[in-house]
Amino acid sequence: MKQPNSVDHPGSVWLLAEVYGWRCEPVSKRKIQMLNDVPQTKDSGSASEDDFAVQVYSDIACNRCGCVCDDLSISVAQDRIVEFQPDCSVANPWFESLRTALPSSPADINGRDVDLEEALDEAARMIRKARAPLFFGLSRSSTDGQRAVCELADRIGATIDTTASIGHGPSIVAFQNAGESTSTLGEVRHRSDLVIYWACDPLTSHPRHMERFVEAAGFSIPNGRKDRHVVVVDSEATATSAKADTFLRIQKGSDFEVLWTLRALLKGIDIYESTVGGVDVDSLRQLVQRMKASHYGAVFFGVTLTESLTGNTNVEALLRLVTDLNMFTRFVARRMRVPGDVTGADSVLCWQTGYPFSVNLSRGFPRFNPVEYSAGPMLERGETDCVILVGAERVDRFSEAARSNLRRIPVILLDPPNANWNVRADVRFNTAIYGIHRRATAYRMDEVPVPLRQILNSSLPSDDEVLRAILKRL
Ligand code: SF4
Repeated sequence: MKQPNSVDHPGSVWLLAEVYGWRCEPVSKRKIQMLNDVPQTKDSGSASEDDFAVQVYSDIACNRCGCVCDDLSISVAQDRIVEFQPDCSVANPWFESLRTALPSSPADINGRDVDLEEALDEAARMIRKARAPLFFGLSRSSTDGQRAVCELADRIGATIDTTASIGHGPSIVAFQNAGESTSTLGEVRHRSDLVIYWACDPLTSHPRHMERFVEAAGFSIPNGRKDRHVVVVDSEATATSAKADTFLRIQKGSDFEVLWTLRALLKGIDIYESTVGGVDVDSLRQLVQRMKASHYGAVFFGVTLTESLTGNTNVEALLRLVTDLNMFTRFVARRMRVPGDVTGADSVLCWQTGYPFSVNLSRGFPRFNPVEYSAGPMLERGETDCVILVGAERVDRFSEAARSNLRRIPVILLDPPNANWNVRADVRFNTAIYGIHRRATAYRMDEVPVPLRQILNSSLPSDDEVLRAILKRL
């Protein structure tokens, strides 16, 4: 029987199996059917009950979204995932995609399969030639890959930008101005009796967020969802608003006015208008009373709140409201981070350079400026002559002008083989997946690092292995 991580831990596997609760079980008829559905790299014939033992890995972390749920159970046979639980509409397609066979080649140059050495040589040659290289992505990487980006960027004087610049970047700017009243998700689960979702729809974007942190019982919230009041503030009805106790539908783009009115009402200032942002002021008064009366309130806000030219002021208004609320009760604000490890990218860049995104290292020291050093605007202005994409997931969010320039300059792409973002690359590396093929760390949306375990073997190189091999060639 094959053992989990047997390559890395030849002697200690069964002790770890005891500690972590891994178990091996006889294969079921249903799993045999799933095994037969798995495409095989070579013709191995049909699976039979005698051929396989299925290993069940429990408490596996998923990093498809910022929840980084660490309670998954994944069954593996013949180095393929055959079953995973529980159901999650975001995680399911991802794990399904992992059941396809890995490519035989670790890299290609202009679509021609090559061996790793040739691809590394070519990538190093492109980087040596570049005068203003740019790294972008990092949110599907892991701590090791993000550190390797910093090391290589520091050596070549590059700019590093992450997907935060087209996501919660304005929120980070707001934190720098107004501070952040923060907590872990565990604290929210155990203590919050009021949860507000502002401009987000977690049932769609983070399907298990409510299940794990709102519906679940906590130390001070023994009856789970029954003990919590859930409010949704959004400009449209969503799956989450349908489950909320209170839904305040505000006019699109009126978040700032509504938040500032809530601040005024909290301070006892009279509002003479009957409605603000499409909501009657009496409903806002009731919300303020509910906030003040709560024992512990948490507001989760989505990236939609940042999506305007003054998105940072929207977030700042919310942060200042939460600060004011702390005069009456404990209240926290947390971002709903979408891609799995964008929080890790913020953290690693902060501890390596002092800044979370849009960092330029061309002068030998870090400079931070989201206006000057964000990847999209840099591409639009033609200020980079080589792009190293550490995951191309958010490239489709760039403007047409930025994407058009990206098609004209040298591109090195590092992405897992099952990622297909339709981005042209001169050199493409098919990388191993952190948390599937490599042990790693992912940061949850509340900045709590969660260990990712290896459950499958792969000969593909990881991000950090590729980047460090390129660095050695320079
Ligand atoms: S909610 Fe997010 S982290 Fe949790 S299982 Fe679903 S996709 Fe994975």
